[in-house]
Formats: sequence, C-alpha cells, structure tokens
Amino acid sequence: MKKISNINFSDKIALIRVDFNVPLNNDLIVTDNSRIVGALDTINYVIKSGGKAVILSHLGRPKGTFESRFSLINIVDELSKLLKQKVVFLQNYLETFAVEKINNSNPGSVFLLENMRFNKNEKLGCVSFAKDLARLGNWYINDAFGTLHRDHASTSKIAAFFNNKKCVGFLVEKELLALKSVMKNTNRPVTAIIGGAKISGKIDVIRSLYNIVDNLIIGGGMAYSFIKALGGEISNSLVEEDKLNLAKELVLEANNKNVNLLLPIDSVNGSEFSNDCLINNSDIYSIPKEFAGFDIGEKSIQLFCAAILKSKTIIWNGPMGVFEMSSFENGTKKVGFAVAEATKNGAFSLIGGGDSVAAIKKFGLNNSVSYVSTGGGAMLKYLEGKNLPGLCAIED
Ligand code: AMP
Repeated sequence: MKKISNINFSDKIALIRVDFNVPLNNDLIVTDNSRIVGALDTINYVIKSGGKAVILSHLGRPKGTFESRFSLINIVDELSKLLKQKVVFLQNYLETFAVEKINNSNPGSVFLLENMRFNKNEKLGCVSFAKDLARLGNWYINDAFGTLHRDHASTSKIAAFFNNKKCVGFLVEKELLALKSVMKNTNRPVTAIIGGAKISGKIDVIRSLYNIVDNLIIGGGMAYSFIKALGGEISNSLVEEDKLNLAKELVLEANNKNVNLLLPIDSVNGSEFSNDCLINNSDIYSIPKEFAGFDIGEKSIQLFCAAILKSKTIIWNGPMGVFEMSSFENGTKKVGFAVAEATKNGAFSLIGGGDSVAAIKKFGLNNSVSYVSTGGGAMLKYLEGKNLPGLCAIED
C-alpha cells in the first residue's frame, strides 16, 4: 500500500473520503469537531502540496434522500475555520458544472460534497454511483477510519476506479498503528464495555469480543433488551423485541466461553425522555410502570467499576446511559473515571465511537485514557480480526 507521505499531490485532484459524522446541536452547530480535526492533516497535506481536495463524507442516518438537518452544509463554517480558507460546498455534485468547477479552480482549493447518504446508492454500494463519483478526481484517499468497515460506494467501491492512485490518509495510518499495538500487547484481564442505544449494530461485535475478552460489561439502552430477555420487567425502556432471542443466546454463549458477562443490576428511570422528568431508582428487573431506564444505578456502577479497576486492557464503546442529560450522566461519568484510574495504574484503555468520545470529553477525561479512536464500529471490527472493506479496497 502506498504511503500518503510519499505522494506529491501537485496538480492532482484528490477525492478524500472522510468521516465528518459529527454531533450537531438543535441550531445545527457542530458540538464536537474531533472528527473534522482528525482529517485536517490529510486535507492540508494535499492542498499545501498544490493539489485540490474534494471531500466526501456522510452525516447521520438519512434514509437515502435530502434532510436539511443532515446536510453537510452545516459543517462548512467549521471546516473553513479549521482550514483557515474558504470551502466550496457542492450540493449537486453529479452535474457537469461540478466537474467543471473543480477542474477550473485554483490549486489548493477545497470542495465539500453534499452528504453521500442522501443518495441511496451510497449504502447499497452501487458501482455506477461510485464510478460517477470517481469522475470528480484523479486520486482517491480514504481517511474515514470510522467507516472503513462499510462496503459503501464512497468508502470501498470507488477505490476500484483508481488503480494505483489510491492510499489511506494520515488519520487511518495512525489509527491502524494504535490498534495493531493493542493487539500485539494485550495484557489480561481484558474488559470490553459496550453501551449505547441499540443492540442491533453491536450484536456481531459482542459475539466476536467473547473471543478476546475476560469481562464484557453491557450498559446503556441495549442492556434493557438483555434484561427483558432474561424475564425482567423493563416498562417503557428501550427494547428491540426482535433481538430478545439473540440476547438470550449471547448470555448462554458468554457462559460457554467463560466470559464474565456483567449486566446492570439497578437502573435510574425517568417518566419521559427529558432531563426534568420524574426520576426514580429501581432494581433493573422491576422498573416501575410508565418509567423508562435511562442510566445504570449505583450498584451497577460499583459492579462495573470493580471489574474495570482490575483490568489491564480496556476497550470502551458506547455510553452507559443518556449521558447528554445531567440527570442520567452519572453511570457514564463514573465508568469513565474508573477507566481513567485503571489507566493511571497501568492499564491500556482504548475508547472509540462518537458518543463515547463525546462523553469522555464532557467529563474532561480525554487526556486520561490511552487512545481515543475516531471510529467505534471500525475499531471493534478490526479488533475482532475482521477485514475492513474500505481498507481491502485500497490494498487491492
Ligand atoms: P449508539 O449510537 O448506539 O452508541 O447510542 C448512543 C446513544 O445512546 C447516546 O446518545 C445515548 O443518549 C443513548 N442512550 C444510552 N443509554 C440509553 C438509554 N438507557 N435509553 C435511551 N437512550 C440511551
């Protein structure tokens, strides 16, 4: 694979796939720019050497059509500020004028294309869409670590149109180096902490993590599906009914594989999804009617933190509760502090995933962990030893 630092981009037009899937507030202002900052080295390298940068990204989970809250136009100001130059936004990038605009621009120009996922062919991995995109440039750089595990048009299929004119960016290089070093020196016990809203995206990951971890902690919204599968009354808590059998299987599998699966034992519940709702604490197996669990309780915190503090390697993806609201931040915060303490005592801690990174930043812990990855899913897939389509497409 070519190293980006050996390539001179003078007079070249580089299509750079980045991961600008950043959190925005209700006013559509970027609240955490880490992922944009992460891609700056690559963009600057291209434009400083006299090339043009055409940036491709996705934002959020639109359903294959335009939705203004997911438009990348919301990112233009932040990107321009960070690059200290004007960024040209191209909404209709497949029209002829877009190619002309890029071709006729000055060296050093930066273009940002509209959200790739507004086109349903992106997630379908449609080759003809990838070919249309490829016409916009003559080099392809994948610096989207967070989407390397996706086989989408702009993350993997597109690479086929660039023969030997493709490489990964500085961010992907750095991420891969860090992950390789964890895999080489995995000290035990290894603990994975998995949280967040949904099981569906993380089922396969949980299963494969069983092969590398001693402890697997499950918190956040996804824990309630496990509790329901085990016969608990979770009232209005988040649940994925179609995943209950799978959750049960995962509990059995943990036993068979000698993995210590730690589920929450108590829950902080709210009467509605709001910081100011009625709040109570309960056993997680008997959440009062009309309430939903939004955070893990104190007993669960103690259970989880005890395991974390004994660990030598910690992998964390996904918050323990609705950490964005102060009423439900406690579980994520305490778990974060335990990870920081374990790190201080010599453990290696790897944190990945947009929400986990936002959480540790919120609690001022980003410098107290060993490595913060910009990608959650990609990080876990790589640790599982799975091929990442975005990477394979470059290595071809
Ligand atoms: P994910 O994208 O699956 O990692 O989910 C992250 C989101 O899960 C965060 O925005 C949290 O607010 C949310 N979350 C965590 N715990 C819960 C819960 N118990 N109920 C609802 N949402 C939750």
